[in-house]
This record gives sequence, structure tokens and C-alpha cells, in this order.
Amino acid sequence: MAVSDFERYPLTFGPSPVHQLPRLSAHLGGATVWAKREDVNSGLAFGGNKTRKLEYIVPDVLARGADTLVSIGGYQSNHTRQVAAVAAKLGMKAVLVQENWVDWPDPLSDRIGNIQLSRIMGADVRLDSSGFDIGIRDSWKNAIADVEASGGKPYPIPAGASEHHLGGLGFANWAYEVEAQERELGVFFDTIIVCTVTGSTHAGMIAGFAGQERPRRVIGIDASATLKKTRDQVARIARHTAQLIGLERDLRDDEITVLEGWAGDLYGIPVDSTLEAIRLGGTLEGMITDTVYEGKSLAGLIDLVSSRDIPADSNVLYAHLGGQLSLNAYSGLFR
Ligand code: PLP
Repeated sequence: MAVSDFERYPLTFGPSPVHQLPRLSAHLGGATVWAKREDVNSGLAFGGNKTRKLEYIVPDVLARGADTLVSIGGYQSNHTRQVAAVAAKLGMKAVLVQENWVDWPDPLSDRIGNIQLSRIMGADVRLDSSGFDIGIRDSWKNAIADVEASGGKPYPIPAGASEHHLGGLGFANWAYEVEAQERELGVFFDTIIVCTVTGSTHAGMIAGFAGQERPRRVIGIDASATLKKTRDQVARIARHTAQLIGLERDLRDDEITVLEGWAGDLYGIPVDSTLEAIRLGGTLEGMITDTVYEGKSLAGLIDLVSSRDIPADSNVLYAHLGGQLSLNAYSGLFR
């Protein structure tokens, strides 16, 4: 089966925009940098990478006759906000377990940004004091059991929609979308930079690109600060997704690259390179990135281009996956 054989429920505007970042490229003095913008991919509560993943999960939700989406993330989870939006769009309920993933001194972090939007969209938001973990949690299992006990039909969506058997398809399809946009633009992106935490964005891309003729580097920049777990999860989901779309024999182990160096010591806590990258993207391009994810992957791109690890004749595609709303919970940083 190919990606195009899987049913897709449209939640995005269509292909996400691709454009050059000329002032950032000139500043770095090396490769030509482009961006593909998942932060503007949908009209559903600002969209983002999860909205694309959910396009391939919703047909299964509908087929199973579920009435409640049950998911999990941090207080400022972009993922749960997108699940709340999709539930609203489908006329379903959403139960969201929101854990205290980030020890960050903002007294409003459980009220503003993503979580505020989830509440506006009618989600049942349940705060939980547990810390960061990309694995399967008891609190989430309990929320699923609660919905069942009250006569509802839950549909479980794990953190980041990653440990879901269809979770990699959205970004496998992204790989084909990139190929089509390259044809239109007359350019080839030899290097892709993507932020990696729960893994299925990066994994889906690798699986999708495995079937294409021209080799390219897909570089995952770790923002989890639990590198081994994230790397294992990317490898597992990439193999599973490649298998789903009949490309398992095309996927090589050396194509699975997750780099450390820009996450800092903890998930969700920005380091100097994160803040510099956020300022550079903002001042040179008006492109906003966040302290948890995209500022970290942009910092990776900046260093890899500046050091010529990515050669000067490259065309690099920065996958902007969204996430700006959580900036509200970091208001003290940019005074
Ligand atoms: N960027 C943003 C804005 C996100 O919300 C996420 C979600 O975790 C990621 C990057 C990482 O994607 P993934 O969890 O699929 O690795």
C-alpha cells in the first residue's frame, strides 16, 4: 500500500507554503535556507504538525464510532490543543490530560496559550502534576477508563500522536508534498531540518523519503533532552511507517539521524542558543519560533549552516512545525 491509498480526512488548507529565508541565508553566509510552514497549515486553532498527523487518524476515529478523543501532553502542549480543535470540528468531546512537563517559573502556564485555547474549544482539561515523559502514562489510561465508565466511546491518541499505528503517515505524505513542490519551484532540498521529540514527524518524513530516487539528509534536532528514548522511538516509528507504505526495504538505518546539542539539559527549558535563534528568526525574517521546539531546531540549523557541516551549495528546508502559542508562558524572557 502507498501513502495515497490511506484515507485522509482534510483538516489542513492543502500543501503548506514553502518559501526562502533570504535574509537569514545571507546572515549565515552559507547554504540557501528555505522554510516549509506547518505553523500556518490550517484554520483549526492555528494548526501545526499534529493537525497533519490527525488527518490520517480521523478516518479510524470515525470508523470506530468514537465520541471522545482522549489525549495527553504538557500544560502547554500544542498537540492537545490541536486534538481539542479536531474534536470541536468533528462535533466530538475531548478529554485532555495535561501534565506538568516543564518546571518553568511562569505562574500562568496552566491558563494561557495552548491550554487557554483548548478550554475555549470546550475540551475537558485535567491537570496532572507528573513530569515529562514521552511514553504511555497511567493518567492517560485512567482518563480513557473514565470515559468508558461514563458510557462514552473514547478514542485514545497518545502524546504527539506518535505511538499510534497511523501516526507516521501525515509526514510520510509530507515527503511527497515536498517532492511535488520541488518540481514546481525548480529546486531540490538536499537537507531537511526537523525538530524531534515524540518522533513521528521525523519518522514519517524518513519513511516517505525512503521511496524517492534522489537521496537527501533528514536531520532531526532533538528537543526532548532524553535522546536515547527519542532516537529509539523515531527508529521504531520510521520502520513501522515504512512497512505500512511498502517501503521497509528502502529504509536504511544510517538514514535515521537525531542530533543532540541544542536541547539543553531539560525539555521545555530554553538555552542561550534557543533564544539567539528565536531573535534571529524574528529580526531577520519576521518568522516566530518558540522556546520548547522550533527555537531549538532553528538553533541547530544556524550552527550546521554556519559551520559548513551543511555545505554552502546546499538548499536546506527548515520544517517549521508550529508551536508559537506556548511563547505566552515565557513572557519574562523577552522584555
Ligand atoms: N515542534 C512542535 C511545535 C511540536 O508541537 C512538536 C510536538 O511534540 C514537535 C516539534 C516535535 O514533533 P514530534 O513530537 O512528532 O517529534
